[in-house]
Amino acid sequence: MHVIIMGPPGAGKGTQAERMTKDFALLHISTGEIFRNAVKEGTEMGKKAKEYMDKGLLVPDEIVVGIVKERLSRPDCAGGVLLDGFPRTVEQAEALDEVMQDLNMKIDAAISVDVNEEELINRLTGRRVCRNCGATYHLKFNPPKVRNICDHCSGELYQRSDDTIDTVKERLAVYNKQTLPMIEYYQRKNLFVSVDGSQSINQVYSVISAHLQKIKEQ
Ligand code: ADP
Ligand code: ADP
Ligand code: ZN
Repeated sequence: MHVIIMGPPGAGKGTQAERMTKDFALLHISTGEIFRNAVKEGTEMGKKAKEYMDKGLLVPDEIVVGIVKERLSRPDCAGGVLLDGFPRTVEQAEALDEVMQDLNMKIDAAISVDVNEEELINRLTGRRVCRNCGATYHLKFNPPKVRNICDHCSGELYQRSDDTIDTVKERLAVYNKQTLPMIEYYQRKNLFVSVDGSQSINQVYSVISAHLQKIKEQ
């Protein structure tokens, strides 16, 4: 089973992905995390990506598509992947279809987590991420057991440099303009599933996991 999780920045994609990948044995592919790791390692690609990320803009399709293509062609993807943060434009969605076809794979669902802007801003500005494993927390809504320390790996938590109010507003504008049109693309293919992301983390997960269970049993 190959699944896309989509939705505006801060909707809870990464949070839900942590559970989905565990319960359904999917490989988590987060383009945002691939870029953050490249930035941390100081690679050429990371330097290029950072210029866009810091402004809240999308990294150009040529870079993103190449990375995803390479990642999907590795054998560990055959058992099932969860794409988180990719595709983000209609062009990326079309490119993904081509790559998938070449690899004899297909998307089973594009699950969209929907949350209103006010709540997205609350979620993003209180977000904290583990420097070591990428796990996501929230100061109020999902705090770690010990302040600033990751529950899973004891890594240090930090605030992403793009989770400031100005960059968040730009990212939301970019989402509305460049990513929203993608919904229609997956609706036309009958793969689109919308989930009310304003509920608690557990409630959102129960809706998503019921859906994945159904796909698995098909
Ligand atoms: P995305 O990957 O879509 O950008 P995250 O999973 O990183 O979103 O979640 C954004 C922030 O909101 C994080 O701080 C996370 O802990 C918090 N969060 C995620 N889901 C919920 C929820 N259902 N209710 C409240 N806070 C949430
Ligand atoms: P969030 O879930 O909070 O929106 P991500 O971690 O998915 O953030 O992405 C962080 C940043 O990485 C984006 O703002 C963008 O600059 C870049 N990025 C991630 N995925 C893509 C993509 N598919 N296409 C273009 N840029 C991307
Ligand atoms: Zn961690």
